Amino acid sequence: MNTWKCEQCGYQFKSEAPPEKCPACHVACSFLDVTVYTPDIHEGADNRIKPKPDSAPIHK
Ligand SMILES: [Zn+2]
Repeated sequence: MNTWKCEQCGYQFKSEAPPEKCPACHVACSFLDVTVYTPDIHEGADNRIKPKPDSAPIHK
């Protein structure tokens, strides 16, 4: 199981492989494999890669 982070909204989730669309912002965005940085996404995660609750999807 890997941990993925959406580059658009910062949403993190665990899955074997990155999905086609982000479950949070529903766009086909890039996903970062942050498994090595987040052994647990709820505790001990690096603040720099934690999703911001108030962050909005960035449309480029
Ligand atoms: Zn997203």
